[in-house]
Amino acid sequence: MYPPKFSYVIPDNVKEALEFLESHDDAKPLAGGHSLIPMLKLRIFRPSYLVEIRRLPELKYIKTEGNVVKIGPVVTHYDIMKANIPLLSETASKIADPQVRNMGTIGGSISHLDPSADYPAALIAMDAKVRIKSTKGERVESFSSFAKDMFTPDLNPGELVAEIEVPLLKDYKFSYQKLERRAGDFAIVGVAVALKVNGDVIQDARIGLTAVNKTAVRASEAEKILLSGKISEKLIEEAATKAMDYANPTSDIRGSAEYKKKMVKVMTKRAILAALNR
Ligand SMILES: Cc1cc2nc3c(=O)[nH]c(=O)nc-3n(C[C@H](O)[C@H](O)[C@H](O)COP(=O)(O)OP(=O)(O)OC[C@H]3O[C@@H](n4cnc5c(N)ncnc54)[C@H](O)[C@@H]3O)c2cc1C
Repeated sequence: MYPPKFSYVIPDNVKEALEFLESHDDAKPLAGGHSLIPMLKLRIFRPSYLVEIRRLPELKYIKTEGNVVKIGPVVTHYDIMKANIPLLSETASKIADPQVRNMGTIGGSISHLDPSADYPAALIAMDAKVRIKSTKGERVESFSSFAKDMFTPDLNPGELVAEIEVPLLKDYKFSYQKLERRAGDFAIVGVAVALKVNGDVIQDARIGLTAVNKTAVRASEAEKILLSGKISEKLIEEAATKAMDYANPTSDIRGSAEYKKKMVKVMTKRAILAALNR
């Protein structure tokens, strides 16, 4: 309940924040604090400094440029939910509860990289990109290579997630389906689906799974099945069945591995049907 002692740093701008992080190995950026503070309260680690980045205006924006949406890392789940970004806004709306959504940020969520977090299902399905900044410069990488392992983002000491970029899936039908025991819980299984439909055929299909692997995955063979013929109950059933091949869940208090794997099929089917009925 009681965090260990730390010093609190309020930089005026991103440059100052990066310089401080670069010169202090035991400093942690603080965004929404809704993963970091619970960990401090459990004394899982003891940083000497927390560097507050959540109020830096340079990191708080949502910009649509052509077919791309650029999102600053300290944009909250609530603001993303309200921004009408296909698939991503619906996913944000299902994170935790209203209080958490008011504080938690997209940059904090992907830097923390809980294997059951919601955004990764959508971000992997959207081929999102992550811009990373340090005092030495910046680099951009795909979300799939950024998410190296659970709780292990591709971030070096002194680096900040500076932007998340997703395509604007304007003409897509989409749905994020989350299986949870109670409203406000982390996902038992989460499936994000985006489909580009032309008449009775699907021209592009994106299926992202969360909570059933160490990091989110795309069920690419299931996507291919959806592209292989006219939309029918059989086609959807086959694709949803295939999605199970991409799940290697572990048994825990949220359910057995076997149950979770079966639920991947159920939730994929629900997500495809919900998207098509949009
Ligand atoms: C009760 C509760 C329920 C929750 N339920 C869900 C849920 O259902 N689904 C879900 O997805 N999440 C859930 N969460 C997690 C929530 O979404 C967090 O807000 C999120 O994981 C972390 O974002 P944050 O902005 O709060 O980050 P913080 O807690 O501030 O930071 C998390 C980590 O990321 C680092 N960090 C933060 N920003 C950056 C950056 N820009 N660059 C580099 N490193 C950075 C921090 O140093 C820290 O290590 C829940 C949290 C709580 C408390």
